[in-house]
Amino acid sequence: MSHPLSERIKSLPASATLAMAAKARELKNEGKDIIGLSLGEPDFNTPDFIKEAAVEAINADYNSYTPVDGYAELKEAICTKFKRDNGLEYASNQIVVSTGAKQSIANVVQVLINPGDDVLLVAPYWVSYSAMVILAEGNPIEIRSGIETDFKITAEQLAAAITPKTKLVMLNSPNNPSGSMYTKEEYEALAAVLEQHPDIYVLSDEIYEHIHYDNATPFSFAAIPSMYDRTITVNGLAKAFAMTGWRIGYLGGPAWIAKACTKIQGQVTSGTNCIAQRAAITAVQAPVGKIKYMVDEFDFRRKRIIELLEDIEGFEVNVPKGAFYVFPDISSFFGKKLNGKQIENASDFAMYLLEEANVATVTGDAFGCPNNIRISYAASLEEIEEAIRRIRVAVS
Ligand code: PMP
Repeated sequence: MSHPLSERIKSLPASATLAMAAKARELKNEGKDIIGLSLGEPDFNTPDFIKEAAVEAINADYNSYTPVDGYAELKEAICTKFKRDNGLEYASNQIVVSTGAKQSIANVVQVLINPGDDVLLVAPYWVSYSAMVILAEGNPIEIRSGIETDFKITAEQLAAAITPKTKLVMLNSPNNPSGSMYTKEEYEALAAVLEQHPDIYVLSDEIYEHIHYDNATPFSFAAIPSMYDRTITVNGLAKAFAMTGWRIGYLGGPAWIAKACTKIQGQVTSGTNCIAQRAAITAVQAPVGKIKYMVDEFDFRRKRIIELLEDIEGFEVNVPKGAFYVFPDISSFFGKKLNGKQIENASDFAMYLLEEANVATVTGDAFGCPNNIRISYAASLEEIEEAIRRIRVAVS
């Protein structure tokens, strides 16, 4: 029976990462020993000093509706953080706190995009960007990159993708799924192109900001003076503070955009959770050194997973500088049979790994990179080592 759902929801693709996690869960329920390397979630607990702030907030009776754009103290703390870590001067009326960075991004797309506007997605890009653009009736336009350019685009590629319909460019560094990071110089080259197009806005998703390795330095696009007035900087607590379920994200940007985001949020969700916001004040103010133990552990696993993957014939492995994913090119398997199963694309390959090796990964198709799969190393070292051992057996 067909249900009378709106065209809007029918046009929306389901999340590939969540679909993979659901399939993995199904196999797990059938008794299979599945190792899940498909989700982007730190396997640490939220640090105690943040949990304590939440308990204090409960006992201090923080239980009423919150201001739609976030508690004033939290917004002040976010302004200080932007200055401290990013060299960005934002006033309180330029900040909006949301239910996860996801809502911050969805708000920006909703308030800027008209039906028919083009939004440039720098592939590989996070799965939800294109879905959010489709919901706003915009056109997601991919600018592709591959492992040969460390998954980064050039200024020439950006210039070639711009049309009179282009309204927004979505950037993400450190990147999910590739872990690549744009340098200041690389971002300045992209900014030089955008300087010729004053009507184009930029969303810079910096949620993996604190998770980086090999002395790579994160750089905020809005820190380029000519880009400040048209860049929206999005960040959140989920990844660096192991707070995925607390649902706190935020943006800094032009006051008129912040005001519009507050307006939409006021009609759709209201201000985000009171206890999580109180705890977020403590998290945002914490010196970055307080979470270094997690980054060090991710770095250790990163080195190990690269070493193990590089040893498998047919895998071309990138060296991520940030986040907690590797994004190997596995296109050498396309057109071949593995254990009698025909592999035509990255989705076939990811499904093959799930069924034959019982390891859940995500197809690169979901991120606009059809030659790759994403493997998360936000898992224990034992799980990572066993997963890669199984993958090696399954593909050799
Ligand atoms: N941006 C990127 C690149 C992400 O990977 C994620 C989470 N997977 C988000 C935004 C959303 O973060 P949050 O959990 O704060 O909504």
